[in-house]
Amino acid sequence: MAANFYSDVIAKDTRFGSLARIDDDQLLEPVTRALVQEIVSAARSIGIDVMVWETYRSQARQELLFTQHVTKLRRVGVHHYGLACDIVKVVGGEPSWKGDFSFLGQLSKSANLIWGGDWGNPAVHHSFIDEYHVQRCAVTREPVLFAGSWYPDAGYNPYKDEVPVLFANVAAATRKGQ
Ligand SMILES: [Zn+2]
Repeated sequence: MAANFYSDVIAKDTRFGSLARIDDDQLLEPVTRALVQEIVSAARSIGIDVMVWETYRSQARQELLFTQHVTKLRRVGVHHYGLACDIVKVVGGEPSWKGDFSFLGQLSKSANLIWGGDWGNPAVHHSFIDEYHVQRCAVTREPVLFAGSWYPDAGYNPYKDEVPVLFANVAAATRKGQ
């Protein structure tokens, strides 16, 4: 695969194997980072204070969260590629997961990011919901991302991603959450 943000920046970062939560947006792929910043500003402009909670996540941390039942996905997730971010509210100076997060769904959609509240497909029932999560990768595209054979370019829009049916079926069969 051609050089990309994952191989050039993430794989070389000293925090590549970090077990700790990372909220540094410099480990978000640049387009994802810009869109996350837009979402944060837009939320604040409508009176909802939010913060970036987690950006990059190592495979070791993914495994740790899996054993702690925080995530349903054991091996890898979109966070590992710098293409996903968790955004939470700020209430009284503290992070908060309480209340309605549908605003994040609306802001994600306008930013062309997939929201974990509906995974880009509100018409379908999802067994796993992650209302604090946004990602710049269509769910159906995850298998090739995880396989290392694809990485989004700057113009990629997950809402316009036409994944061949075979990939979509594989994704549906293997998907258990983020
Ligand atoms: Zn997430």
